[in-house]
Amino acid sequence: MFQSEVILSDIYKDDAISTVKVLVLQLSDKAKMTNIMKFLTTKLPMTQISMNHLKRINSKHDNFQILISPIKDSSCYKNVDIIQKTINEMNEDLREFLLGFDSDNLCLREVAASSPLTRNQFERLSPLWPVNFFENKYIAKCLDGSIFSPDHWKRIHELMIETLNMLNNDSPSCMSSIIVKDNGKRIVTKTISRTNQHPLHHAVIVAISNVAEIHKQAKEQLLKDPDSFQGDNHYYKDDYLCTNYDCFLSQEPCIMCAMALVHSRIRRVFFFESTTISTITNECYDQPYTVQKLHINSNLNHRYEVWKLSKQENYANKKQRTS
Ligand SMILES: [Zn+2]
Repeated sequence: MFQSEVILSDIYKDDAISTVKVLVLQLSDKAKMTNIMKFLTTKLPMTQISMNHLKRINSKHDNFQILISPIKDSSCYKNVDIIQKTINEMNEDLREFLLGFDSDNLCLREVAASSPLTRNQFERLSPLWPVNFFENKYIAKCLDGSIFSPDHWKRIHELMIETLNMLNNDSPSCMSSIIVKDNGKRIVTKTISRTNQHPLHHAVIVAISNVAEIHKQAKEQLLKDPDSFQGDNHYYKDDYLCTNYDCFLSQEPCIMCAMALVHSRIRRVFFFESTTISTITNECYDQPYTVQKLHINSNLNHRYEVWKLSKQENYANKKQRTS
């Protein structure tokens, strides 16, 4: 069985959200809270300071902390200077309001710079300061793998094994590809790269050409005889390019093939992570998914999901190396 990982934008990495310093007012007297909050909501609302992703109040036991404002540049000042400088730069009402408190009531805190996008980010950032979190259910399901049913996962693993088995041990420079529809229930085409015959005959390019030819033949056949339900013709009669198709690859493809899959309107790509350098062909040095994130580039008019599958033992070794 394989270890799987969806290749998402870097914004979903656990440490993708940075932190910023904010000025905080500490209070133990709850009775003053209502008036202070009324004043701050009018004079310095959270929208004005671009802190809408945070709660204004952080309460722990009998101690209350109220977020006042972010610190502009804290890199070259001591804490006490930063607090004074921040207050001095405020308008007169706010300055007078803050100077009415003892300096011990004012402090700096580190908070999330923006809303967390994943539960891991939320769990890392929420202990700093209460933060709003609206989980993207689809991304969450991709991250924990529950986006696919157990039966679908089983089929994905079978198809990846079939893709890898297409490679001949004597020619490790080859790359293999399988394009499927209906969640893998039907194999549309299986190909191996033939760059020894033509420099552009990469497995993906050949597979996409095959799909076009299969569609063409099916549609021509149905034009000749619209009532014909013989053969596979009816399976492809409504298909457009590789829309709703998935592609299995024996390794990460080259940039040309990754782009060809964009043009083909593929839905999803699963590739096997080759960890042995001798089995990685020239076709995947570009790393269009793991490094360039081409499949989620917002400048493209079609984007697709990419999953990396690797052997359990490779994954275990890698974890050991990084820990
Ligand atoms: Zn290629």
